Amino acid sequence: MFENSRESRTSLSEYGEFGLIDHLTKNFLVTSEATIKGIGDDAAILDFKDNKAVVTTDMLLEGVHFDLSYMPLKHLGYKAVMANLSDVYAMNATPTQITVSFAVSNRFPVEALEELYAGIELAAKLYKVDVVGGDTCSSKTGLVISITALGAAREEDIVYRSGAQTNDLLVVTGDLGAAYMGLQVLEREKEVFKVNPRSQPDLDAYTYLIERQLKPEARKDIPPLFKALDVKPTSMIDISDGLSSETIHLCKNSKKGVYLYEEKIPLDPAVISVCEEFKLDSTTIALSGGEDYELLFTIAQADFEKIKANPNFTVIGHMAEEGEGMHLITRGDQKVPLIARGWNAMKEED
Ligand SMILES: [Mg+2]
Repeated sequence: MFENSRESRTSLSEYGEFGLIDHLTKNFLVTSEATIKGIGDDAAILDFKDNKAVVTTDMLLEGVHFDLSYMPLKHLGYKAVMANLSDVYAMNATPTQITVSFAVSNRFPVEALEELYAGIELAAKLYKVDVVGGDTCSSKTGLVISITALGAAREEDIVYRSGAQTNDLLVVTGDLGAAYMGLQVLEREKEVFKVNPRSQPDLDAYTYLIERQLKPEARKDIPPLFKALDVKPTSMIDISDGLSSETIHLCKNSKKGVYLYEEKIPLDPAVISVCEEFKLDSTTIALSGGEDYELLFTIAQADFEKIKANPNFTVIGHMAEEGEGMHLITRGDQKVPLIARGWNAMKEED
């Protein structure tokens, strides 16, 4: 993943607020033609021409959403951008700009914020979005980071959560549960480290899971793939909280029921083996784990032929009339109600 380098510590007070922002954003270039004016005036000026503007925002709090004892700041910056871009892709739109705001206490040196911004810069470069503004202030407690993403879409391409029809297929990209199991591995290592700070963990077997937790990638490949396959989903959402709660969002917004098949849920072999190691049920982890940043969507059955051979997609169920309810069909062919248990809720029960 990323390597961390510098050891020196420069106090935040050596820069004022404006000096700090100038310093941290000096490498940011404007590359999108939708950006007329980026950083450097009272406000950014954007031009989406005939497209609709898409806006989404997300706030991350230290101790609630991340733990800096195993989340390096560069990864945090990258992941915070991904969480926002994922929401733009979930509208079948293209992200074009972000703004970045943070609150920080002076326990952080300038070098720490440079690491945070290095992650943001890398994400912005790889996903071709301009950083066009933001704010900074001091925090008496933990680090807070808030990112707003802007994007553009043609009106006819936009996909809402509310368009699913009865008998539409429920489809998911990638595989599920790995980010949550990566978190479990990192939390276990943190406990080991507390007891023995000289322990050298061998995490090779967990590389995929830890990468999914620390360096998730939003599915920027999926909206163009829909276009190439000539498929427009009838509804879509990204998976930040877990498959069950996102499925319920699609059902409630579309006023539909669902049958979701346990045996169809895509799991990486590493998730299955680490779930065995931690004595956790892999289906529960996929349903409630969260932070996978995959896309969950519905398509008309007539479009099945167009997606069936594509390795990015797995059909996991189908929509039903609202009155039929929302169900998980287990491997043992039992019908159980689908309930929302986001990963935060799951953590509280531990
Ligand atoms: Mg979302």
